Amino acid sequence: MFESLSDRLTGTLKDLRGKGRLSGADIDATAREIRLALLEADVALPVVREFITRIKTRAKGAEVSGALNPAQQVVKIVNEELVGILGGETRRLTFAKTPPTVIMLAGLQGSGKTTLAGKLAKWLRDQGHTPLLVACDLQRPGAVSQLQIVGERAGATVFAPHPGTSIGGGENALGVSAADPVEVARVGVAEARTKQFDIVIVDTAGRLGIDTELMNQAAGIRDAVEPDETLFVLDAMVGQDAVSTAQAFRDGVGFTGVVLTKLDGDARGGAALSVREVTGAPIMFASTGEKLEDFDVFHPDRMASRILG
Ligand code: GDP
Repeated sequence: MFESLSDRLTGTLKDLRGKGRLSGADIDATAREIRLALLEADVALPVVREFITRIKTRAKGAEVSGALNPAQQVVKIVNEELVGILGGETRRLTFAKTPPTVIMLAGLQGSGKTTLAGKLAKWLRDQGHTPLLVACDLQRPGAVSQLQIVGERAGATVFAPHPGTSIGGGENALGVSAADPVEVARVGVAEARTKQFDIVIVDTAGRLGIDTELMNQAAGIRDAVEPDETLFVLDAMVGQDAVSTAQAFRDGVGFTGVVLTKLDGDARGGAALSVREVTGAPIMFASTGEKLEDFDVFHPDRMASRILG
């Protein structure tokens, strides 16, 4: 990801190196190149506009004297602004004062939610937590068993309804329908509380496109379990559509953080660069492959350095 953006930006900034002083025209020309590079990488237009305005204002106002030559100063400004649009500081998970901490995952089908549930469970277990995975994707055939497989790999317990049975054990003991994801979520969290799991990860259903039913179901789960964190899972490969999808989830469900998946892909990366600015929510984790280990906390500064080569 970002190869072509990275090449274009480093190429443009390298062109400045030979210059002792940068004129206003040099800065405008560089800003134009950066603008094109970002647009070609599918970064959302309002994000590009804001970025370019800030670069120009700062570059033109920068002190010429100092340890850095003008070209280095522009590189520094671009780097700082990239870190800024990626969210600045790394944002850590917020844990509930009284366990269990409830983390709900939301996003389109195929975005990588179920895989992420396993990754997050492993990552949390490695830190000494005891996560319970709750299978509320009752839409997609095979989603429950997929969660059971990733749960097993991650060494985490999975709470899942068995098709055609009640959950909670016994003869409809809790009066819960296994077909109702809201009830599964509610009982799953209650189960975590009773059995002393300190974190609950709720996997929810996704559709191929946004629809009202999906949003209402996710909102129903949210209201039932009152998550401490709702993570919007975004496939970084999806390009410009990412922005409207993210906005729809923000308005329909709301989320406290974003997880970018498939950052190992060869897409242009604009989604990754737009989502923070467009939704206001921090990117918290990054997923970079299909294996459970291909996962880490998202560091805006490291991502910016990667882009600037
Ligand atoms: P869900 O429908 O949102 O639950 O998505 P899944 O977790 O089933 O993931 C959809 C597909 O994307 C699966 O084939 C995953 O193996 C794959 N996948 C998930 N995360 C990543 C990632 O970070 N990189 C790559 N290359 N593939 C991923």
